[in-house]
Amino acid sequence: MALYFYEFQEDEKVGRVYNFSAGPAVLPVEVLQEAADEMLDYRGTGMSVMEMSHRSKAYDNIIKEAEADLRELMNIPDNYKVLFLQGGASQQFAMIPMNLMKNKKAAYIVTGQWAKKAYQEAQMYGEAVKVASSEDKTFSYIPDCSDLDIPEDADYVYICENNTIYGTKFKTLPNTKGHTLVADVSSCFLSEPVDVTKYGVIYGGVQKNIGPAGVVIVIIREDLITEDVLPGTPTMLRYKTHADANSLYNTPPAYGIYICGKVFKWLKKMGGLEEMKKINEKKAKILYDFLDESKLFKGTVRKEDRSLMNVPFVTGDADLDAKFVAEAKAAGFENLKGHRTVGGMRASIYNAMPIEGVEKLVEFMKKFEAENLK
Ligand SMILES: *Cc1c(COP(=O)(O)O)cnc(C)c1O
Repeated sequence: MALYFYEFQEDEKVGRVYNFSAGPAVLPVEVLQEAADEMLDYRGTGMSVMEMSHRSKAYDNIIKEAEADLRELMNIPDNYKVLFLQGGASQQFAMIPMNLMKNKKAAYIVTGQWAKKAYQEAQMYGEAVKVASSEDKTFSYIPDCSDLDIPEDADYVYICENNTIYGTKFKTLPNTKGHTLVADVSSCFLSEPVDVTKYGVIYGGVQKNIGPAGVVIVIIREDLITEDVLPGTPTMLRYKTHADANSLYNTPPAYGIYICGKVFKWLKKMGGLEEMKKINEKKAKILYDFLDESKLFKGTVRKEDRSLMNVPFVTGDADLDAKFVAEAKAAGFENLKGHRTVGGMRASIYNAMPIEGVEKLVEFMKKFEAENLK
């Protein structure tokens, strides 16, 4: 059921819902409209970007412009490469140790399912040392990482910066004690400014906050890209292969990169990452303020660690949670069910979720509370 109507073309209105999916997730409607307009004939080429050679002039412009816009948005220094890869964020769980574990040792901070999966994957390639974890309280907080016991010879320290399932975010980066920091930013990519120089590798699947599934972006400091990888590392899983070929070693996820490029332009038009941060803070505050005053709903995360992107909440009664999700869906608020490992609800409010979407959700929650509070 549609919640609002988007004027797609003259005299053609399209029903849209407010989509709170954690990923694949909402994209800016202007971007979808532009892609639709260019579908049959991309700028006079007479073909769709989907049908185009990745070696063509038109496509070369698309991928180069996407990279340039991302560099501008994130202020990426020249000694970092930007790679557009495939295999999702999960493939990086293996690529990182395969390429970076020179001493066969790395430190992992385990703050959720995705960090845990990366930690487990790394164990296949060397010694992955768990230096901190928040599993004791179902990952509802970020552990103190100011003075961790990091092995001297660890090749890197790994974090998942925003925990999509649990709704926590590192507000300060861990003290890596001089070690290279590797961060999975899948669910907070481009949600606020970052200081790229603090990281060796920043990577994320784009289907949370940037574009369609199928693309993973890896921003990696050049000195970390070497031939010295673990024996048996396939050509396709070497950063050097893709860095040397500017992400065109083989056919890249061409259409996905094109949409990412449009989202980068949209973000620039919105005022860049400083502005997005302000908007995201304002949006999240509407929801968190309500959760803090509600007598029915409550947030599940320690306040100081709350994510701006993923907001989990519960009523404390599984049947009532299910009723809420069903009634919300009927009213046009989609994908509010919490992750299967957590239960309850989760509202993902990425960059492309309009502020009205959050305002209307809170209105709906207030109504539900009035009707269901005993
Ligand atoms: C979704 C997600 C992943 C997994 O992404 P895939 O592209 O499906 O492999 C990894 N890390 C984080 C933080 C995520 O949100």
